[in-house]
Amino acid sequence: MFMGGQYHTSHELIEIDITYQCNLKCNNCNRSSAQAPDNIHIDLNQIINFVEQSLKRPTPWKRIRVLGGEPTLHPEFSAIMEQLLRLKAAHPETIIELVTNGYGRKVNATLDRIPEGISIENSYKNSNVQPSFGPFNMAPQDSIWYTFADYSNGCDITSSCGMGLTPQGYYPCAVAGGIDRVLGLRRGRQSLPSTDDDMRDLMEIACRLCGRFYDGHYVPDKLRPPLEVQKNSHSWDKHYQDWAKRRIETQNK
Ligand code: SF4
Ligand code: SF4
Repeated sequence: MFMGGQYHTSHELIEIDITYQCNLKCNNCNRSSAQAPDNIHIDLNQIINFVEQSLKRPTPWKRIRVLGGEPTLHPEFSAIMEQLLRLKAAHPETIIELVTNGYGRKVNATLDRIPEGISIENSYKNSNVQPSFGPFNMAPQDSIWYTFADYSNGCDITSSCGMGLTPQGYYPCAVAGGIDRVLGLRRGRQSLPSTDDDMRDLMEIACRLCGRFYDGHYVPDKLRPPLEVQKNSHSWDKHYQDWAKRRIETQNK
């Protein structure tokens, strides 16, 4: 029997997935931007609400990371950056970081115009094969060894990367929001969670499906075997099939 460690959700760090659209379709993408591709974007009003609620908090954010999908493809990308810079103006010590794949002309044209105050983390990807990725789609619930795991413990992503804000709302981590999108549950909190809310109910739903749960703490890439292909355990095969069916039904309405 394996029992996960006890991890807490950071209320000083946040990752915002502003879109699930991506111009690369990497194997084992932990936002399912390749496995369940969709042009779902965060609404600008969600960002405005986040900024307003953050300005009322007694402590500022240490770091806000903007991701996706490929975040620069959001149709209102500049307006989102402008909103986040309001937080930086109020709290200059807050780090605002844009995480991009750096791939393609359109993305790079936007990167050339990133306003001052926003730092860029560019992974310079140029292929959908990412051997350093973990096996996100190998669900622990499909392993007999994890039959009695306590999924509400989460993993260290909740504390090292922080909570997630996604088009579906707030989650203990952005990965959990991406899982919820595929499940179609929309269980995310709809306003900024209070500091005593670890969102363990949402970990319970997401972590049983997340390959990152196996590691618990961060494991350096070189200690993991390279992953050259997409790997799904049977739960994920089923969830992606169900997602595709729902999508067709929605499009036919
Ligand atoms: S670039 Fe990032 S978001 Fe896009 S498919 Fe690859 S891992 Fe996923
Ligand atoms: S196991 Fe996955 S879903 Fe759960 S907290 Fe970690 S990264 Fe998030």
